[in-house]
Amino acid sequence: MIDKWEIVIGCEIHTQLLTKTKAFCACENRYGGIPDTRVCPVCLGLPGAMPRISKGYVELGAVAGQALNCDIARFTKFDRKHYFYPDLAKGYQITQYDIPLCSNGYVDLPFRNFPKDEQPGGQKCRDTNFIGENCIIESNGSKYRRVRVERIHLEEDVGKSLHLQGAHSYIDYNRCGTPLIEIVTKPDMTSPEEAALFMQTVQEILRYVKVTNGNLEEGNMRCDANINLNVWEDGKLYHTPISEIKNLNSFKAIREACAYEAQRQLKEFQEDRQEFNPGFKVTMGWNEAEGKTVVQRTKNSFVDYRFVVEPDIKPFSVSEELINSAKEKVGELPEAKRQRYKKQYGMTDFDVETITSTKDLAMFFEEAAVKSKNPKKAVNLILAELLAILNEEKLTINDVKITPAHIADLADALEDGRITSKQGKEVFAQMYETNQMPSQIIKEKGMEVVNDSGEIDKIVQDVIASNPKAVEDFKSGKTNVVGWLMGQVMKISHGKANPKQATEILNKYLSQM
Ligand SMILES: [Zn+2]
Repeated sequence: MIDKWEIVIGCEIHTQLLTKTKAFCACENRYGGIPDTRVCPVCLGLPGAMPRISKGYVELGAVAGQALNCDIARFTKFDRKHYFYPDLAKGYQITQYDIPLCSNGYVDLPFRNFPKDEQPGGQKCRDTNFIGENCIIESNGSKYRRVRVERIHLEEDVGKSLHLQGAHSYIDYNRCGTPLIEIVTKPDMTSPEEAALFMQTVQEILRYVKVTNGNLEEGNMRCDANINLNVWEDGKLYHTPISEIKNLNSFKAIREACAYEAQRQLKEFQEDRQEFNPGFKVTMGWNEAEGKTVVQRTKNSFVDYRFVVEPDIKPFSVSEELINSAKEKVGELPEAKRQRYKKQYGMTDFDVETITSTKDLAMFFEEAAVKSKNPKKAVNLILAELLAILNEEKLTINDVKITPAHIADLADALEDGRITSKQGKEVFAQMYETNQMPSQIIKEKGMEVVNDSGEIDKIVQDVIASNPKAVEDFKSGKTNVVGWLMGQVMKISHGKANPKQATEILNKYLSQM
């Protein structure tokens, strides 16, 4: 009788890096194109071709490592991993074996993004990982679940097999030699939802630090999930054999494939009582259309990849300079920004989430906030006016001409009461169209509210003098005429009198009557 069971998941995420050229040759690093048009003797592995590490490759790897809180190796090397696959022309892949560039990192997943029952206090929340360490982290009043990153190593991508209808398969070598990092976690994740959230968080962080496009549809970020179960039966703990589900390229695929595989393993355990065996791993694929995992490579035991040090690339030192520069490039990560914005600007979770959705938008906001007298006014303009237009026209913040200075200028006009919020909308629309500064628009349109108390005083006196009947009514206790008198003041000032000042002055005169 099974008492309980739990899911154990570890992820391997492959993501392509944004270098100009491929990892070890001068071919352009770009997605797609006519097959086999971006290849050379190096990435095709022709005899005698010599690989060279591309500019920026190691540094981007280090940026990823810093962003995921890893230690960066001061000395490292590349190795050859041998296996035969049609999409790997050389017969080996250049990768890093025993000295990865980055190790011992972690990623903290905000609990607020988990389903309710997996959050602290929920039925399915686990507060320890599989070595019994507490994995709930608390910072700034928010709780996180920590997933440990074992290593991040550099390697090259392989070509792409295309299995078209009919008897033929084709190979496109354009992808061959594209620089990759592989992020390997500890088996810390306890649910399909958590594995998907991990991938989502890593994608967000690595896009923020501009290491990768992280585009799942184009396959430049993909996840292999290693999954098995802990099963307690009659008080005894069993571990099921590990399956590796390859190439999951959407959050939905991770969620569904892991959920399906967990159920399949439980059933298999109950039927034939297969147990975990080190070095014994099933490789699986995910058939999205049928919604099930499919065995790709059978239960072969240990594969010998015959790792050797890559003889054509010398082992190398990683300079302090490179490590520091990587650290600088990481800067403030999205979650830290969110916590800071909430504290500094009193923003809601929802607004913070929106304004930090991309780094460029967050930087735009920060510049506007610094330039304006009241950052909250700047936030509101960006959220209510600017993002509405961007969403409608399907643009990003980089596509618009207006600058943070425009937003700050308009925010200040509103803050000072120079224009009303209704006029603010009008100014915004014109500013967006013409790229003129708000102050200039307000001046040209003669919108400026009259704040000169001398001028308002004069108008109020005129209104009182020319409406003796209303003043008599007020004296006899009909206080509702005050509103009507205010209307006259606004009418004579063409709506430009500062309403707050006008009310004060009118009340002052009436109280003296
Ligand atoms: Zn090449």
